[in-house]
Amino acid sequence: MTKIFKYTWAILKGMGITLKYFFIKPVTVQYPKEKIKISPRWRGTLKQLKNEKGEEACDGCRICEKICPVNCISMEVYKDEKKNRRFTSSYTVNFGRCMFCGLCVEACPKKCLVHTTDFEFCTYERESLILTKDKILR
Ligand code: SF4
Ligand code: SF4
Repeated sequence: MTKIFKYTWAILKGMGITLKYFFIKPVTVQYPKEKIKISPRWRGTLKQLKNEKGEEACDGCRICEKICPVNCISMEVYKDEKKNRRFTSSYTVNFGRCMFCGLCVEACPKKCLVHTTDFEFCTYERESLILTKDKILR
């Protein structure tokens, strides 16, 4: 007899928990139809910022290239004698290798390299994970 009460109580307790969650707002979202707000701290793809003159702020110091542990950043740099500063003629990031550690962003002395909140860049082609300057400088 005691066992009957014990088991009935266990069932009621279990059903009580089910009933409690029945009235709570679900935390799951129907992705990709529904999307949650991504935290600004999210480390997505990289983006280079322009300066107040609308020029690229990056001066090709190569610190991001050197600090990247997986060598996924590469660039070519030239000096503009008229403006007396360096620019990059190419700037490429291979997101197929990137581990989104954020070291390049942390190290950038100009603070012009930032992470975006983009996370939807899955692809079947490795080549499309290689982003060139025209896609990074925006
Ligand atoms: S986030 Fe890390 S792995 Fe990706 S490019 Fe920057 S330093 Fe390299
Ligand atoms: S660290 Fe910043 S300023 Fe230097 S090359 Fe990289 S993006 Fe440009």
